Amino acid sequence: MKQQNILIIGGGASGIVAAIIARRHKANVTILERNSKIGKKILATGNGRCNFTNANTTKNDYNHPEFVSKAIDVFGPKMTMDFFESLGIAPKIEDLGKTYPLSEQASSILDVLVYEINRIGVNVVTDAYVKSIKKTNNGFTVQLENGERYDADKVIISTGGKAMPSSGSDGFGYKLAEQLGHHATKVFPALVKLKLDSPYLKQLDGVKIPGRVQLMHRNQMLQEEEGDVLFTKTGISGPTILQISRKANTLLAEKQEIWIKVILVNLLTRADVEKRLSLSASRPVDFSLVGLIHKKIIPSLLKEAGIKDHSILVSQLSPKEKNKLLQLLFDWRFLVMESHGFEDAQVTAGGIDINEIKSDTLESKLVKGLYFTGEIIDIDGLCGGYNLQWAWSSGYLAGKSASN
Ligand SMILES: Cc1cc2nc3c(=O)[nH]c(=O)nc-3n(C[C@H](O)[C@H](O)[C@H](O)COP(=O)(O)OP(=O)(O)OC[C@H]3O[C@@H](n4cnc5c(N)ncnc54)[C@H](O)[C@@H]3O)c2cc1C
Repeated sequence: MKQQNILIIGGGASGIVAAIIARRHKANVTILERNSKIGKKILATGNGRCNFTNANTTKNDYNHPEFVSKAIDVFGPKMTMDFFESLGIAPKIEDLGKTYPLSEQASSILDVLVYEINRIGVNVVTDAYVKSIKKTNNGFTVQLENGERYDADKVIISTGGKAMPSSGSDGFGYKLAEQLGHHATKVFPALVKLKLDSPYLKQLDGVKIPGRVQLMHRNQMLQEEEGDVLFTKTGISGPTILQISRKANTLLAEKQEIWIKVILVNLLTRADVEKRLSLSASRPVDFSLVGLIHKKIIPSLLKEAGIKDHSILVSQLSPKEKNKLLQLLFDWRFLVMESHGFEDAQVTAGGIDINEIKSDTLESKLVKGLYFTGEIIDIDGLCGGYNLQWAWSSGYLAGKSASN
């Protein structure tokens, strides 16, 4: 069989794995990376710990389950852990299947990938910003910003989406794909903080609570997440909110009014809290809430409940005030204005239309010899290791298919 010359545009998570797998299948592989080093974004993942897979990953953790199923079948979380184990990474599986390197350093993941790239002889060209791509009779010609040209039998576009553009993924990959006739669906930030319309943000900024949040639309709960909720000076964040942000952004794009309902008291019932308040009848109302909710939230909560005098005794509250206070502890609503942008997003929702890509090889249906991996495709998953898993799975499948 003829040795394939493969160019991989983008040395991120998916491009690196595609390169390793194609090289292991005897292809001659070159990565073209615009940064001075490959894998910059990997270093930022998982708060520097790199949540590199989720042990429980299934196709249903993605927006297009049927499209991802082949890639997840051939290179799922178990294969990913084995792959990294063979490169020297001991996995550490935490709650809900989130998996990190035992070192808890994202740099370990990048170090072992770079070592393998060098060991097996993948060519890496850095400071190589690809600006154009053309189909030729025999394959492809790719041109860099500095005018240099590269020819190849096959090309894998692994440029990522638009999330965290400072890491290199500035969205130009979509333009490259369009040069060959491909189309991107509408892209928007996902796994991203939300901006709220609330007079209390200044006071609440920095408060982190273990709570429950619900995405509300027309008084109906659309999504519920339990875990850390973090208030910021512009709105709300934390893993719970990141999970909700995709659906929130979809509705915001349709100009729908959406609310975040925060359940401050997650582990007690309303009756429990009512009992506590009656036992605190002779205490000031602000003091009666200490030990129940985060202290920094109390003044804002009382204000929202319409209680002006924060040191009024619980027994002196009117039934209306007491009722409102109880209600807010279990249902405090905040109007969502918009989300933060791609700069703050962990992932891009939308991308190259899956109808233009063969799901069993990740080869383009429009251009023979062209492949896609990772986030540039209209695939995204929840927070928890699923997006890197897609990067590795798609990198494996495209690298293997392109080398044949
Ligand atoms: C802060 C943050 C934390 C995250 N944490 C996690 C986590 O813990 N777990 C998880 O599963 N996912 C996480 N993600 C998501 C995950 O990192 C991405 O989904 C994944 O890296 C996508 O891989 P990719 O190969 O498609 O693209 P990228 O990793 O974005 O790589 C694309 C590469 O292509 C290069 N490039 C782009 N255009 C060109 C061009 N024209 N010419 C040459 N090179 C080009 C870029 O410089 C970049 O190196 C996180 C993301 C962010 C931003």
